[in-house]
Order: sequence, then C-alpha cells, then structure tokens
Amino acid sequence: MNERDDIVRNLKQLVELDRAAGMEFIWKESTPAPFVVAPLALSSARSPTAAKNPVAPAASADSLTQIATEIAACRACGLCDGRNKTVPGEGSARAELLFVGDGPDEQDDASGRPFVGAAGDLLTKMIEAMGLKRDQVFITNVVKCRLPEQRPPTSSEVTACQGFLRRQIALIKPKIICAFGNTPLRALMNDNTLDISTMRGKKLTFNGMTLIPTFHPNFLLNNPAAKKPCWEDLQLVLKELGRELPKRGG
Ligand code: SF4
Repeated sequence: MNERDDIVRNLKQLVELDRAAGMEFIWKESTPAPFVVAPLALSSARSPTAAKNPVAPAASADSLTQIATEIAACRACGLCDGRNKTVPGEGSARAELLFVGDGPDEQDDASGRPFVGAAGDLLTKMIEAMGLKRDQVFITNVVKCRLPEQRPPTSSEVTACQGFLRRQIALIKPKIICAFGNTPLRALMNDNTLDISTMRGKKLTFNGMTLIPTFHPNFLLNNPAAKKPCWEDLQLVLKELGRELPKRGG
C-alpha cells in the first residue's frame, strides 16, 4: 500500500469518527475546494473524537476538522454559556482569500454557519460582485460563539479565542486576509489603538500574508454611504489576488 492509499484510508477513518461525533464532513474531489467544515451541533461534553482519534492531524484538512472539534468543546470564555451552536467557519481549505468578522450573531448561532443573516446576504453579494463564490473563500470570525446583542467581544474573549483563528489561518495560508471592522483588525495586528476608519483599504502584513481591513457588512447595512469605500477596498483585494473585476453581464 502506497502513501496515497494510507492518506485516503486515514481520511475515511476521520470521516467516520467525525460522523460519530455529530459532525458533517463534505469532501468533494471534483472541485478545487475539496474541504468544507459544516456546522457543528453543540455538545456540552467534550467530543470523544478529540480524545480517541487515532489519526495524526498530518494533512491540513484533518487539522481544520480538529480545530472545529476543539471549538465545539471549548468553554474557555463566558460566551459558551449563551451559545446554541459553535460557528467555526466555512469555506475552502485552500482559499486564497479569507474573510474574518468579529463573532457570530443570533442567526449564525442558530445555524452554526458564519454570516447567514442580512449581513451574510450582503457579504455573499460582495463576494459574487468580485467574481467569486462563497465556497471559494473561507469565512470565519475572531470569536466562535455568539455575541449577545451584537456587541463587540471583550479583549479577554478575543484573547481566549484567537488561537483558533490563528491556527485556521496558518493551515489555510490565504494570500489575502480581509478583516471586517475593528475587532479582527486589532486582534490580528495585536494593536488595540488601530481604528478601521483610518486603516481601511491599507495593505498590512500578518505573518507574511497581506491583510486588508475594510468595513464590516453589518456596518454597511446601517451606513450605506460606506459601501463605496468598502467596494474600493475589495477591488484592492482583487488586484492583490491578481484577479480582474468580472465584466458586467458576463
Ligand atoms: Fe471558546 Fe471561543 Fe467560544 Fe470562548 S468564544 S467559548 S474561547 S470557542
């Protein structure tokens, strides 16, 4: 049996283990985005997968699964008390573009998926206007459990949770990280003095990757005038990805 057979066998074992832990795992061989972490049902008990998984997390797909499993069991900050489902993020494990917001809202919490409410609809339109599809990018948040009344996470909540985000970024290695608003900008740049109103549209660096901050879709819903500068920022993202704007009607 060659190395590839070993990897395939181990992935199959992992799928079975994840299914046993209540997690959906979708692997599409035919697409360039072969791995999607689907919503996790909340379990207050620690997943048996984490303790008994005999498969070493060698491939990035395995490790994203591992991170999502750890998030489902995490009680490292008080946000765990108000959640229904954890929201680890979703999208391509090979995404060149990663969007990061502050935290899940009520609808995200109910579905276990990021950006599914009104802000999510706007984000989907923004992604499609860039000539991309949601499953070509990766979408996640700084904190993985619901933020009550859409308040920003506290610094202690960010500190407790941001290890998960940093591990996701390290595995996916996107070309561009697009940070929505102050929370991901400050968390990733490790600087609480930064402000999105002055930093948006700038090319920053995070661990060798380009980080471009812009306004959060929620902010755009309440401040339509901010859509124009946000779109300029997204065009900069496209330029950095080496992509051109899709032709209208094309
Ligand atoms: Fe754990 Fe993050 Fe949820 Fe807090 S927000 S309980 S650190 S997963």
